[in-house]
Amino acid sequence: MNYCSCSADLTNLKKQLPWLREVDKFALQNSLKDLDTAYQNFFRELKKNNKKQGLPKFKSKHNHKQSYRTTFTNNNIEIKNGKIKLPKLGWVKIVLSRNIQGRILNCTVTKTKSGKYFVSVCCTYVEIKKYYKTDNAIGIDLGIKGFITTSDGEIIDNPKYLIKLEERLKKEQRKLAKKQKGSKNWNKQCIRLARIYEKITNQRIDFLQKLSTRLIRENQIICLEDLSVKCMVQNHRLAKAISDVSWSKFTRMLEYKALWHDRIIQKIDRFYPSSQLCSVCGYKNDNVKDLSIREWICPQCDTKHDRDINAAINILNEGLRMLNVA
Ligand SMILES: [Zn+2]
Repeated sequence: MNYCSCSADLTNLKKQLPWLREVDKFALQNSLKDLDTAYQNFFRELKKNNKKQGLPKFKSKHNHKQSYRTTFTNNNIEIKNGKIKLPKLGWVKIVLSRNIQGRILNCTVTKTKSGKYFVSVCCTYVEIKKYYKTDNAIGIDLGIKGFITTSDGEIIDNPKYLIKLEERLKKEQRKLAKKQKGSKNWNKQCIRLARIYEKITNQRIDFLQKLSTRLIRENQIICLEDLSVKCMVQNHRLAKAISDVSWSKFTRMLEYKALWHDRIIQKIDRFYPSSQLCSVCGYKNDNVKDLSIREWICPQCDTKHDRDINAAINILNEGLRMLNVA
């Protein structure tokens, strides 16, 4: 059954099941469209013998994230005076995070685990004002202690408020463990946890957004390691560090912002020994493989290195070298 036959079926079902008429009709149609896309993807990949693509998954009403998508037609969606008009719901008070540009295409209404509602508004493409060209190039090393270190010698740490909040999360998690599963207090504690967790996620994304925007604005070329996170997480010592710093999210942000502003992101092979090479004379010091070594002196040219800054400089040089070849 494709979308058309499902949609025809829906019209019949609506006659039998009155509750289907209670909801926004676009919500139902869009779900059927998504299902159709999922099946088309499945069959397309099946032909290619790609076994990774699975069948569409059933959504549960107990899912932690609930959402539906509605489509714009005949001004059924409007934003005015701190309110949004949605089909079937009418005018709903909102806090507008930024002004809408372009024409509205559709809206997704989401309820988070902690019970908050969000509407994301998808609009037509609006030309982005590009940043001015610069001559700056920078290398970035994913830190073990901090978040990142740049070839300019700047060390950017994970924000303190995040670390504090993560400690609180641990505390509240311990409290949850002591409560009886399914009880009223247990449920209350679950919501409290969800709220903290959401706050951590939001704050981290905010931190990554601001940092990636700044790096893109200040630099024409950004060189970084091509870390396959899947590979890294298997390495237990680094596992926490990697997932904590959300490196992959950060690189994705850099990549799409680079496209917006005509910047270049150059990725370095993850087997390139950026920490072990001396950025001054090129001597390879195998001892630096030990992650606990934060500083070292090059036995060949006597330069004193900070582990991460040296690595970032090497990443920059290697990236520039690759760009010249290409
Ligand atoms: Zn050296």
